[in-house]
Formats: sequence, C-alpha cells, structure tokens
Amino acid sequence: MDLSDDVDMRRFRAEVRAFVAGLVPDGWRGVGALPPAEREEFAKGTRRALAEAGWLAPSWPVAYGGGGLSPAALVVLVEELTGAGVPSGSDNDSFGISMLGNTMLRCADENLVARFLPRILSGEYVFAQGFSEPGAGSDLASLALRARRDDDRWVLNGQKLWSSGAHKANWMFVLARTNPGAAPHKGISMLLVPLDQPGVEVRPIRNITGDTDFNEVFFDDAVTDGELVVGEVNGGWSVAMTLLGFERGETALHAPIRFRSELDRLIALIRERGLTGDPDIRRRIAWCHVQVEQLRCQGLRTATGLIAGRAPGPEAAVFKLLWSEYHRIVTDLAVDVLGVDALAPTGTASPNWFHTDDPGAPNSSASWTSVYLNARAGTIYAGTSQIQRTIVGELLLGLPKEPKRPQPAG
Ligand SMILES: Cc1cc2nc3c(=O)[nH]c(=O)nc-3n(C[C@H](O)[C@H](O)[C@H](O)COP(=O)(O)OP(=O)(O)OC[C@H]3O[C@@H](n4cnc5c(N)ncnc54)[C@H](O)[C@@H]3O)c2cc1C
Repeated sequence: MDLSDDVDMRRFRAEVRAFVAGLVPDGWRGVGALPPAEREEFAKGTRRALAEAGWLAPSWPVAYGGGGLSPAALVVLVEELTGAGVPSGSDNDSFGISMLGNTMLRCADENLVARFLPRILSGEYVFAQGFSEPGAGSDLASLALRARRDDDRWVLNGQKLWSSGAHKANWMFVLARTNPGAAPHKGISMLLVPLDQPGVEVRPIRNITGDTDFNEVFFDDAVTDGELVVGEVNGGWSVAMTLLGFERGETALHAPIRFRSELDRLIALIRERGLTGDPDIRRRIAWCHVQVEQLRCQGLRTATGLIAGRAPGPEAAVFKLLWSEYHRIVTDLAVDVLGVDALAPTGTASPNWFHTDDPGAPNSSASWTSVYLNARAGTIYAGTSQIQRTIVGELLLGLPKEPKRPQPAG
C-alpha cells in the first residue's frame, strides 16, 4: 500500500505533523527519552490532545467522539504518531478503545454505545478485560464465573485471573456464564461491570519483572445493571470472538514501527559493544531485519482488510503469532549481546507491560532485560502460540479440526 501520492493523504499527513510539532519540545527523540515521571505526564497530556482532536479513537464515528477517519487516514496517523515516538493512548485504552469500543460498534445496542464510548474517551470509564479464569484460559468456553439475573440486575459470583490493568480500571468487560444448562459456548454473556463496589476485590499479582501489571479479581455477589450486556444474552461467545480479533489485530499498524525502532536501538548497542564483526550476530540481525519487514507488510495487509470493511478475523492470528515469536528471539539476541551485564541490569527499566520499550528509550541493560522478560508473556496473552497455530490451521488453511474434549454426560 503506497499512500504517498494521494493528495488528500499528503494534506492529512502534513496536518498530523503540525499536530505532533505542537506537542513535542525541540530536539525530541521519542517519549522514551523522558525521565519516567515526565513520560507519564507527557502521555496524559497527549491523550487529552488526541481526544480533543478526535484521534484517540480515530476510526470511531464523530458522533461518539471519534475521528471518523478512513482506514487510509488511520494508517497515516499511526505512521506519524508512532514514527515520532508519541504515545497514542494509555495502557488501559487497549481494552477500552481498541477491544471493547470497536466490538461495541459492531455488536452492542445503540443506547449502550452512546453511553459508554464517549465516557471511555473522556477517561471517566477505564476498562480491564475479564476473560481468563483459573480453569479457563486456552479453553475459554470452560469459564465458570456465574451471573444470575435478579430482577433488573445481574449478580456475579466467581473469579477472573490475569486481568491486566484491573488495578487502574473502574470497569471490566466480563465473560460470564448466564445459562449453566446450555452447551459451554451457548450459555455465556458479555457484561459490563463496575469495579468500584463492595462485591469486587482486585488483588495484584507480581510478575517475572517484579511489577504488578495483572491481577486476580474476585466477584462476591457483585452487581451490574440488567441492560449492560454487549450483544445478546447468552450470545457472548461470538461477541468475545469479535473482541479477540481486535485484540490480536490492534497492534498491526503501530507494532512494526516500534519493532523497527527497537531493532535500530539493538544495532546501536551492538556497535557500542564492538560486536559488528561477529558473524553469528550479523546473521541473527539479518534475520530480525527480514522479520520486521515481514511484520510491516502483514500490518498493511490487516489495514487493507480494514479498508475493505472487514473486522480483524482469523488472519489477525497470523500477525499475533509472528510478532510474539519474533519478539522472544530479538530479545534473546539483546541479552546475548549484553552478556553478563544482563545479570545485573543498570539504568531505567521499560515501564511498558507489553511490546517494546518506548522509542527514544536509553539503550540500558535494564531496558533490554525488562523487555526480554515481558516478551516471554507475548506468546501467552491474547491466546498462546499453540492456539494461534490451531486457528491458522483450521480457519485459514482448512486443515481438519482439532478433536474436541468429550463433554461430561448429563
Ligand atoms: C501478561 C499477560 C497478560 C494477560 N492479560 C489478560 C487480561 O487482561 N485478561 C484476561 O482475561 N486474560 C489475560 N491473560 C491470560 C491469557 O489470555 C491466558 O494466559 C492464555 O489464554 C493462556 O491460558 P492459560 O494461562 O490458562 O494456559 P493454558 O490454557 O492452561 O495453557 C497451558 C499450555 O497448554 C497449551 N495448550 C492449551 N490448550 C491447547 C490446545 N488445545 N492445543 C495445543 N496446546 C494447548 C498452551 O498453548 C500452553 O502452552 C494474560 C496473560 C498474560 C501472560
């Protein structure tokens, strides 16, 4: 896809560049170059400015506070913001905007959309994702959290697990079992549940980096209004599959740009350490370069699907599989380059839960080792690599379906 010759897109690109120039100081190298506290403040200010411009949710209709941008303009916006190292939202926006908002526009009742979308953009409603449970990860349809209808509200009992950012959220989209008598996929609904209530307890879990980015969330007679259901009651499975498509495809445009900037940082590190002549390192860097180019093309292919009006479907699994496996390997290389320094990292660690460190981040051993550890999780969340391969095999390649686990009788 080449947008360079399109007059409208050239004009729009100039508009975005002027917007970025108004946000960043002279000598800007990317948000990662700022000290941690300033990084956070800058990201908050950028979020506000993007919301005012309608570019926080660029493809949403203007009526709900979005930008109403065409997919081609969306590509230009992402190229300019991410290329300049400007954050395009907060961590929880992945859940509220990319996953939930986009799904609601396809699956939810008009009144619900009109109430929730503007409040997500204003920052009043901050969402987390409540899908996984102790007994339901890859086999999501086994989920046991129960929501019982009681007059004009739902009463929820059960537990969610690995809920990223739930400690920063005040709402959660929850997959709940609403008809225990139905077949596993058929008795599930997606409910919107406020977290600030006595029946909800959020307990952070410390992860391998030492941070507490994800949580256990307990529901003990927690309640939500009867109408806060996305899609049909007991029709939550197809809503969840739509949302997972957005989750796997949401980074398709900006991740390859970040991976390019990360690889450039790694090459700078290799130069600093005098390792450019090492044949093994040269071979591995060449492989990484090819992967990043492949991811860029795959991202544009996803954008082409958007231009044709398609939500990310099974092809998003290809992108998710490629980037997450790539990221383990490139960060393995970074740790090999660091050698023993990786055992006693110094400098500032990456503040990000997912993906790369921010563009402009100092090339420190702490940055690389924290990203290395986070990259281990990339092949697990949003569906493990084994599950992505099953989706690709069954839904794209037409291979025979995986045998299903027999259901207990009765
Ligand atoms: C950093 C991080 C953030 C997360 N954030 C969230 C969040 O915000 N909200 C949320 O709901 N969840 C979240 N998750 C949970 C994530 O979706 C699950 O961890 C994931 O779906 C895998 O489920 P599981 O951990 O139960 O592993 P399991 O499903 O038990 O899998 C264990 C192993 O068995 C393999 N396996 C399982 N079934 C099959 C099969 N049929 N064929 C082949 N291999 C199979 C898996 O690939 C894996 O290697 C997060 C996870 C991580 C690591």
